[in-house]
Amino acid sequence: MDSSIMRVSIFLSVFALMAALELWLPARKAPLPRFQRWRANLGILVIGALAARVVLPATLVGVALWAEESGVGVLHWLGAPVVVSVILSILLLDLAIYWQHRLFHRVPILWRLHKVHHADSHVDSTTGLRFHPVEIVLSLFIKGGVILLVGAPALAVIIFEVALNAFSLFNHTNIRLPLKWDDRLAYLVITQRLHRIHHSQHARETNTNFGFSVSWWDRLFNSYRPRARQSDEELDIGLREFPATSSNARLSRLLTMPFTRS
Ligand SMILES: [Zn+2]
Repeated sequence: MDSSIMRVSIFLSVFALMAALELWLPARKAPLPRFQRWRANLGILVIGALAARVVLPATLVGVALWAEESGVGVLHWLGAPVVVSVILSILLLDLAIYWQHRLFHRVPILWRLHKVHHADSHVDSTTGLRFHPVEIVLSLFIKGGVILLVGAPALAVIIFEVALNAFSLFNHTNIRLPLKWDDRLAYLVITQRLHRIHHSQHARETNTNFGFSVSWWDRLFNSYRPRARQSDEELDIGLREFPATSSNARLSRLLTMPFTRS
């Protein structure tokens, strides 16, 4: 099967599963009607995907295949065995995304882009798809650079992209595991509760739990926060300067947000 058809099928399946779970057992109540947020969050996803196609005609898998053929990248120079290359590449790409996320919080001009994601007044599966098209394109170039530097095999890039997408849907889903299970799972991955702490309105909490998949990077680089000041039920989500109004949930508002004063 064509890898892009496979990726879209996996994405739609995970999205359907997560959306069903949060419809059935929602952890928190959304302050706005679902259709208002979903229209904008899914709209910006489509625009981001189109922008990525226009700006970078080659896919990341294409970049990896070119690197493989041309012998570009550390793992190709070293002639590392395939299994080692794939595992190492997935880990290094995930680590790069962790640091990219921290960078987008730290550098003011990048935060202007990333705050579109954080300005969502509620966190659900579609929040995991809500990124400004410029952030999507920048992230593509960063990932492309890492693939060339590392010499990541195409297989690693496919696995990483599918996993990153699935994890983003997973940890934004509006569900809540029993705390005991949440704590156990948190040894390995960033759970929904942990990621909601990252979406807290309190800067000290927002600047923690940056991981998209595994929780190791946050533990290793001192950004792990297992508990928020408020309970998960009461946690103030979003950005104070963007209250939950229907005008703040418009697609045009999301697109212009980085370029306007808040
Ligand atoms: Zn963030």
